[in-house]
Amino acid sequence: MTSTRCAACKYLRRRCPSDCIFAPYFPSNNPPRFSCVHRIYGASNIGRMLRELPVHLRAEAADSLHYEAQCRIQNPVYGCAGIISALHQQIYKAQSEVARVQADIAFLMSNTSSVHEQNVAAPSFNNMTFLAEQNSTVGQPSHVPSTTWFY
Ligand SMILES: [Zn+2]
Repeated sequence: MTSTRCAACKYLRRRCPSDCIFAPYFPSNNPPRFSCVHRIYGASNIGRMLRELPVHLRAEAADSLHYEAQCRIQNPVYGCAGIISALHQQIYKAQSEVARVQADIAFLMSNTSSVHEQNVAAPSFNNMTFLAEQNSTVGQPSHVPSTTWFY
């Protein structure tokens, strides 16, 4: 029964046993998936890697092997490491951009607050002088000049 063989067993031209390690992860309707992985890792290595894993992790591992094999075929020198490196570069650029924007925001905030202080500082100085003059009548020590602006 050729139609019941998984993609791996079909590719390897062998009978597909009922407990075939490849069958759940390399279905017969997707032959390129197995041929791609087989080309990079070899069928025996794939089988060994899948057997060494707990059953609940095997599907994810097969997907990962397939993805990494595709990357290696597309980029024989770097494989998925080339993609990882490019993504690290993007993260680095994005972090640099975030740091630059945060520095710009901090600079603008400090300018805004100093402008605010300038607008508020002059009247408040006058107010302090005014308050000092007022307080002088309410019991300032006599040795402190009532018009002092050391506050
Ligand atoms: Zn099989």
